Amino acid sequence: MLPFLREAYANPSSVHQFGQSVRHRVEVAREQVARLIGAAAKEIVFTSGGTESINLAIRGALSARRWTGAGSRPRRILTTAVEHSAVLRVLEVLEADEWIIDTIGVDQDGRIEEAEFAAKLADDTALVSLIHANNETGVVFDVARLAGIAADRGIPVHVDAVQSVGKLPIDVTDWPVQFVSMSAHKFHGPKGTGALYVRRRARISPLIHGGGQERGLRGGTENVAGVVGMGVAAETATSDHAETAHRVRALRDRLEGGILSSIPFAHVNGRGAERLYTTANIGFEGLEAEAILILLSEARICASAGAACSSGSLEPSHVLKAMGIDERIAHGAIRFSLSRFSTTEEIDHVVATLPGLLSRLTALSMNR
Ligand code: PLP
Repeated sequence: MLPFLREAYANPSSVHQFGQSVRHRVEVAREQVARLIGAAAKEIVFTSGGTESINLAIRGALSARRWTGAGSRPRRILTTAVEHSAVLRVLEVLEADEWIIDTIGVDQDGRIEEAEFAAKLADDTALVSLIHANNETGVVFDVARLAGIAADRGIPVHVDAVQSVGKLPIDVTDWPVQFVSMSAHKFHGPKGTGALYVRRRARISPLIHGGGQERGLRGGTENVAGVVGMGVAAETATSDHAETAHRVRALRDRLEGGILSSIPFAHVNGRGAERLYTTANIGFEGLEAEAILILLSEARICASAGAACSSGSLEPSHVLKAMGIDERIAHGAIRFSLSRFSTTEEIDHVVATLPGLLSRLTALSMNR
């Protein structure tokens, strides 16, 4: 990224050679990101991150959908109870704007019932928005199957794959979906850079109007350094995918196994479902997540309570609530995130540190 902040500072839209050399690098990055998900380069729109991609997909798809007067007027959006706030908040705004939001619940392990999903699709459903891998529990939805049900009824699907792109093998040729949101920093790229996959011929209008960049779908001069960084991160993520997944999954299982065997009141949320190998969501019954996080931080262990954005609030996460997790477990739920850089030593440090740290809290806690 550094050369594009220091020397190669030309505007990629400029026709002079300096600009065109930068344009070339943006287009290389587009190909790298496209390759990560089996898309064509033309189907990638660079954005400022996952949140913008989600806003563009949902709002852009709805505003591009014209009702011809035949059949029912599209006015419903189907989503799940476990979406990220980037989806939930957009839908809340649309609800105030007279869209009807249908929400599908999940079971104790965070899974969706396919038959229930099919039953919730209506003739006037305009769009489906589904999270792929959950940011709190790591639970993975079978997007290919669910989107297939929607596709059979001609309903476009947006997938929030911010957590899974770069970690799980994704091939959009196997997914009957129109839009996929991605974010570079979830696979070691720079923060503030993302992309939206827009299937060829999918109907979508821009949110940001301007100079016609990104094939008219996102006005504004590109964040070249960010885009270049995202491209390289995409390529790195694919280079040793299977080996990384295998190694990190073993570390995650070591962490969960170690904690469960030494802490009798620990529960792994979403354990019965297929999960992303980088996420461990563990509820410590009767304790408060915030208090655990403070002690963990003192021990130089970085973790989060539920969704990062809701850390600091005492409300248990909407995801765990939707799963019907007991409140005493949900209040004490901690999310440990691993990556390709996690080591056995780090995992063993957490497993060795936690029991002593929690016994300090249980001694203090009035709840237990
Ligand atoms: N969707 C999911 C599932 C996420 O985990 C996140 C970020 O944590 C986002 C969307 C938002 O992405 P960004 O922070 O790049 O805007």
